[in-house]
Amino acid sequence: YYPLNPCYFYHISQQENILTLPVAYLKGVSAHRAELLQKELGIFTYSDLLQHYPFRHIDRTNVDTIASLSPAQEYAYVAATLVSTQLVGEGRARRIVAKFEDATGTVESVWFQGIQWVQKLLVVGRKYLLFGRLSFFMGNPQIPHPELEVFSEEKSQGKQSLEPVYPTTEKLKIRGINGREFASLIRQVLLLIKEQDFPENIPSAILQEYKLMDRIMAMRQIHFPGTEQHFKQALRRLKFEELLMAQIRVQLLKMERHRFSKGFPFKELGPLFNEFYEQHLPFTLTNAQKKVIKDIRADMATGKQMNRLLQGDVGSGKTIVALLCMLIAAGNGFQSVLMAPTEILATQHFNSLVELLKASDINVALLTGSVKGKRRKLVLEEVAAGNIQILVGTHAVIEEKVIFKNLGFAVIDEQHKFGVAQRARLWNKNTLPPHILVMTATPIPRTLALTAYGDLDYSVMDELPPGRIPIVTYHKNESKRPEVMAFVRQQLEQGRQAYFIYPLIEESSKLDFENLMKGYEEVTSFFPEPRFYVSMVHGKLPPGQKETNMQRFVKNDTQIMVSTTVIEVGVNVPNATIMVIESAERFGLAQLHQLRGRVGRGAEKSFCVLLTSSKIGKESRERMSTMVATNDGFKIAEKDLELRGPGEIEGTKQSGALNFKLASIINDRAMLEVARTVAEGILAQDNALELPQHRCILNYLQQIKGKTKWSKIS
Ligand code: ADP
Ligand code: MG
Repeated sequence: YYPLNPCYFYHISQQENILTLPVAYLKGVSAHRAELLQKELGIFTYSDLLQHYPFRHIDRTNVDTIASLSPAQEYAYVAATLVSTQLVGEGRARRIVAKFEDATGTVESVWFQGIQWVQKLLVVGRKYLLFGRLSFFMGNPQIPHPELEVFSEEKSQGKQSLEPVYPTTEKLKIRGINGREFASLIRQVLLLIKEQDFPENIPSAILQEYKLMDRIMAMRQIHFPGTEQHFKQALRRLKFEELLMAQIRVQLLKMERHRFSKGFPFKELGPLFNEFYEQHLPFTLTNAQKKVIKDIRADMATGKQMNRLLQGDVGSGKTIVALLCMLIAAGNGFQSVLMAPTEILATQHFNSLVELLKASDINVALLTGSVKGKRRKLVLEEVAAGNIQILVGTHAVIEEKVIFKNLGFAVIDEQHKFGVAQRARLWNKNTLPPHILVMTATPIPRTLALTAYGDLDYSVMDELPPGRIPIVTYHKNESKRPEVMAFVRQQLEQGRQAYFIYPLIEESSKLDFENLMKGYEEVTSFFPEPRFYVSMVHGKLPPGQKETNMQRFVKNDTQIMVSTTVIEVGVNVPNATIMVIESAERFGLAQLHQLRGRVGRGAEKSFCVLLTSSKIGKESRERMSTMVATNDGFKIAEKDLELRGPGEIEGTKQSGALNFKLASIINDRAMLEVARTVAEGILAQDNALELPQHRCILNYLQQIKGKTKWSKIS
């Protein structure tokens, strides 16, 4: 018996595939440069280098004249003679300013870094090619920190017309690895690789059906395209490859989970569920709610562990779904836990569950950071003894000290607030991992959800309970404040309650805090009558105080709530019919939607006023008009994605599932859909990828295994 050393395999494969060679093997890459490439851009192997794609191509035969440069263009490429250089400034402001001219005008460049290196390169009277980001100062064009190359007549003639320009960093530039130097390194690699080093990974039938360029050709053409058209085809092929492989991986993960992850079988609905459903359900479920419960019920009966994502818009009624499923667990002899991201929310969930379950024979307990001492000890004991069937709480419930007798089901509400690691802890709370239901507060578009969380089962509730009156939203600028206040007064006079929300994105921001306090005083002075009481809630209050202030508002002891976003999620005060969001331009769309969801919960018509300064940017304006135009969380999510990009969507960052090099989840949404369907088709026919035509996929996936981060979500 020989223990197998993984390094041994690494060695073999290094020799087998040229793409795994370190870049230091290339001409022009010293050990020092190799180290820098790795540090700066994570480029270690030939393969990494090939995947360092150009961000644009320039036509070398086609330089701009200086006079033609316009603020509308992002980059400039000029051939110009150096007229003067000047070393100015001291210390960190030390810089070289150089003036270049061509027949039509002059352009200025400045270098703050690599001054010695630039000085050596700059000779007055010599002609250079300058390439870089273009800016204007007092109407004069400037190309700060340009890429610089001595102009040579013959070089610029014999060249291929489309030359790649690569992203690089200042540090690399100083070491001479500028956007152009990359081209020469990549050219070297492309000359070395053969078909077998870079085997096709998409079955030929699919290549044909979707008219995709073959792989090695695409790799050559994306760097050094013959024509613009070739480049586009190469890009399309490589994007498709990224999306398809990601989809196959994520679907395989899901299948694997279905096959192997054992879970507790919940054989029956049980008496608790039946009794509640027949006698205590306070309303008729929507069809969407019924469908989701059916899905979950089916999952939990299989003997496999359920791992499901439930997306539902604000107010779609996720809580009752969670409750009914917890009753199924209890009826089968298992405990459940319901986890919420904040103390306020957990408490509210607890209170509403207690209320709903008052006629049922079931014990519910609350565990948060502020449950201390004897009470805490008692809760822990009762949970361990199995006397508590439903535990509601914050992160406190996943602490090691919390031992369940028989945890079978975990619901995570407002999912994006919990990290992957925290959720993973749930898995270890019983001999088998409990069934897990993750409920998102903020819907994300379906395509995105299926990519980011594709290894989870997925349910969506796209229906609101009947009888909801749509919230009317206005966008006003600050000069209209008196009118807004008058409007709020009208609502208050009718016995309704009001929210005033202030941005306090960073709870530590001093300025925000001052604004909140000012706001509080302002609101109090606008409504001085003793019949209007004001509560305030913010992150700096001790938890107990926060809770008390919140509860006073819930009970209508106070009529106005001045708050930061701590009330963002879940809070339910049906009598609150108006929300004023201050400095609304500082909030993201998803957050605005969440906040607005705090009103419109009762039978009365509700309003949301977005107050902004009169000077707001285009993007902010678009956000405001989206909010005014729709109440549909899914539509808002689409718009959010369009405006901000997927990187900003909370909770998806850590999944690694959206880190495509070329494809964009926004702009290539249609292609993503196609890739998903193709992946489904392939796996439906051959889920082990054993058929000869699918071997290429399997080989590829095995080759890249371990290189990409694909974590299980829950
Ligand atoms: P969310 O999905 O945002 O968590 P909740 O579960 O808090 O929504 O439900 C919002 C409100 O709608 C609650 O007051 C709840 O009692 C009510 N509700 C839920 N389902 C229904 C239904 N089928 N019919 C009527 N009201 C419902
Ligand atoms: Mg909720």
